[in-house]
Amino acid sequence: MSGSASFVYHDQAMNYRFHDQHPFHPLRLQLTLDLLSAASALEPSRIIPSRPATDEELLSVHQPAYVEAVKALSRRRPEAEWIKRAEEYGLADEDTPYFAGMHEAAAYVAGGTVTAVEAVMSGRAAHALHLGGGLHHALSAKAAGFCVYNDAAVAIAYARRRYGARVLYVDTDVHHGDGVQWSFYSEPEVCTYSIHETGKYLFPGTGSVSERGEHLGYGACMNIPLQPYTEDASWLECFEVSIRRLTDYFKPDLIVSLHGCDAHALDPLSHMHCSLAIYNQMPAILHELAHTYCEGRWVAVGGGGYDMWRVVPRAWSLLWLEMSHHPLKRELAPERESSHGISLPQSWIDKWQDHSPVPLPSRWLDDLTRWEAMPRRAEITAKNRESLAVALQDYPAKA
Ligand SMILES: [Zn+2]
Ligand SMILES: [Zn+2]
Repeated sequence: MSGSASFVYHDQAMNYRFHDQHPFHPLRLQLTLDLLSAASALEPSRIIPSRPATDEELLSVHQPAYVEAVKALSRRRPEAEWIKRAEEYGLADEDTPYFAGMHEAAAYVAGGTVTAVEAVMSGRAAHALHLGGGLHHALSAKAAGFCVYNDAAVAIAYARRRYGARVLYVDTDVHHGDGVQWSFYSEPEVCTYSIHETGKYLFPGTGSVSERGEHLGYGACMNIPLQPYTEDASWLECFEVSIRRLTDYFKPDLIVSLHGCDAHALDPLSHMHCSLAIYNQMPAILHELAHTYCEGRWVAVGGGGYDMWRVVPRAWSLLWLEMSHHPLKRELAPERESSHGISLPQSWIDKWQDHSPVPLPSRWLDDLTRWEAMPRRAEITAKNRESLAVALQDYPAKA
């Protein structure tokens, strides 16, 4: 597989922060950048700077009144009238509180994902990664779940408008990718896919198998809700079978994938029990599909992931190793027995251990020999297979 990869980054994305105790923290990105540079895996020539999304781009997804409210609440001292109305726009709760400079920072996040789409669709790069992106819960007129502007939806709308591309959106964050799904629910040229912990137990509560799109967009939406305490093997089985089937059915020109890594067992905000293995193997599957169906065109963004010391830097770095065709990724292939023994760069551990409240991991992958199997594994696996079968029932299997 060939093709160059670009890494989209701008310091302004670091300003997308609510407050210091908030779980969606820019330190997640910094720890990842540092790990990649300690591993000599991010050459400066790969980095392309982003720009803020224009109002016109934001308005392709968001309502004018909402963008106006975000701007008004971004001031250092917002007017009392706007503060009263913050709740109506989802900007008053503790998940997504308004903050000074919010519009500018969120416009940079959205613009970064547009930059990644532009790099790939113009042919400048085969793949592009924008880890600052991934704000999949933002709705057309409301902020939600740490998300102000929906960068993925804005960038997909850009790919449609500017290039007429058929876009497959793949969301592997543990939370349902609701904002992106609703943005394109009746749009036949954008197919949204989300694999997540079932909404019965987890925010935002949607993402059942029966959500399949509407009107002309019926069939261009797939949801794979999984049981709490799902482990690697069941997650990977459900993901691989469904995404291969859907990609073959839809035949996209571009894959846009979202990489929240909050299905990990250590994540404090979900109830799944997966390891780094899924974040090692899932990007390899997407990579293969991008080369098979899209001439390589693949844009990836970050997302959730709230064990920022032990999980996020490794999971996101593995994604970039995959996208950049890095030789280390081959050594980490699951069929290699030695893959579990490969160490993280000591310089990264030395730099950050004193700042971390928990011991930092010493290897790229988790040592699963120390993990206990979930007691209801067989039952969980069977329930997940039932959901998978229902989700796939209208999609033809390859002969
Ligand atoms: Zn490639
Ligand atoms: Zn999430």
